[in-house]
Amino acid sequence: MLPSHLNGHSALGRRRPRLSAAAASGDSAAAGVGAAAPLEEHDRIYFQSYSHLGIHEAMIKDRVRTDAYHTAIMCHQKFIEGKVVLDVGCGTGILSVFCARAGAKRVYAIEASEIAVQAREIVKANNLIDQVVVIHGRVEDVDLEEKVDVIISEWMGYMLLYESMLPSVLFARDKWLKPGGLILPSHATLFMAPITNPERYEGSVDFWHDVYGINMSALVPLAKKFTSEEPSIETIGGENVISWPAVFKHIDCYNFTAEEFKSITTKYKVSSMMLAPIHGFGFWFEVEFNGPAESSHNFPSNLDPLEIIQKKRRRSSEDTVLSTAPEDEPTHWQQTILYFPDPIEVKQDQIIEGSVTVSQSEENPRFLNIHLECTSIRTLASLPYALVLVQQHRRTDIGEGLRHAMNWCFYTFIVAGVPCQRSYSLQKGIGSEELKTGFQISLMEAEFLLFMQIFV
Ligand code: SAH
Repeated sequence: MLPSHLNGHSALGRRRPRLSAAAASGDSAAAGVGAAAPLEEHDRIYFQSYSHLGIHEAMIKDRVRTDAYHTAIMCHQKFIEGKVVLDVGCGTGILSVFCARAGAKRVYAIEASEIAVQAREIVKANNLIDQVVVIHGRVEDVDLEEKVDVIISEWMGYMLLYESMLPSVLFARDKWLKPGGLILPSHATLFMAPITNPERYEGSVDFWHDVYGINMSALVPLAKKFTSEEPSIETIGGENVISWPAVFKHIDCYNFTAEEFKSITTKYKVSSMMLAPIHGFGFWFEVEFNGPAESSHNFPSNLDPLEIIQKKRRRSSEDTVLSTAPEDEPTHWQQTILYFPDPIEVKQDQIIEGSVTVSQSEENPRFLNIHLECTSIRTLASLPYALVLVQQHRRTDIGEGLRHAMNWCFYTFIVAGVPCQRSYSLQKGIGSEELKTGFQISLMEAEFLLFMQIFV
């Protein structure tokens, strides 16, 4: 059992709280801020943190993020053209400007923090005042004169849910979105997997055994406590991840509710792909930008890897996905790691299972409480076909879309117990050594393996 709290002083602040008042003022004849309830202290601090330019600079310079939004807007240009858009939390107004340039008739750019003042100037400087209406206030308090066709928002915090901004988007959806309207992003999935990170553990904990020749082991218990009591935001690589990820939660923004957001519990069960010490669990997310009709991309919550591979495969190359996975290009979200105080040794194919609950903190709904249980670690009778090649699984030279498919394919091969020789021979002359280090596999071969896996 590993309870963990995301509190206000953790390293988890994409926004750094600083105290000062966040005023709210409307500025448009067509729309404005109604009788706003006074901000609660936690919201005042939260919005204050967004009045600092540094946060917006970090987000905008995150090209993976900003490009994904730009691409998604352009992909949906036909839907956006001539329509009314609501940008929930417009910040500097960048997404509103993208939408206006994509042909939106009108964009309501709502921002509760002081950066709204600059957003308005940016809109003016780009000659978009006829299209973009900046409203300085909380989306919960604004009055619009019309319903909207599109809601766009960049609401994701660390570990997806941190900051609890999603309920504001859901509020806007229920109040202002026309039936059949578009929500960008439309779907979000939070993944989790056990990770090994010996360097990090040695650097933070074992380090104290010998410091300049001084035995400082007395600090080891403190170091373990310090390392494990708060989630750590850091970038790990695919090689740190020792099982296929489990889906912690799949959110369909067209249907999800703020009530569901309050507390989410998921059972997980994964199988280690190698003999390694587990140092904790890593979490990362991806968001998709689909229309309401494509809501069937749902990941099952029972974490069946075969189902996940099939769902991922159904994605067309035109689908825009913003991924923060360890094997993908790093983003400012990095990954969130929950470290154990002590590592747990696991063997290949060993099952790791338990449950995780993520809930909004009662004292401050912007923060999260995380409760992670690793209730059962047991060794299965080892499978007869130990495919060592799967141990180096994350980095591949093949295209984005198929990488996951191929990885999953190897995994399910093991589960299905497909004989070693057979899977080797399927790979046409690619030796195990080569596979171990490079996964040089052609697209066709990966497709073929996937096909085999499904029909074996
Ligand atoms: N859309 C911008 C900023 C994203 S950060 C961009 O993509 O660069 C999220 C922004 O939403 C912050 O500026 C924050 O102050 C704002 N925000 C969060 N909750 C809000 C709410 N309920 N009403 C209005 N603005 C909100």
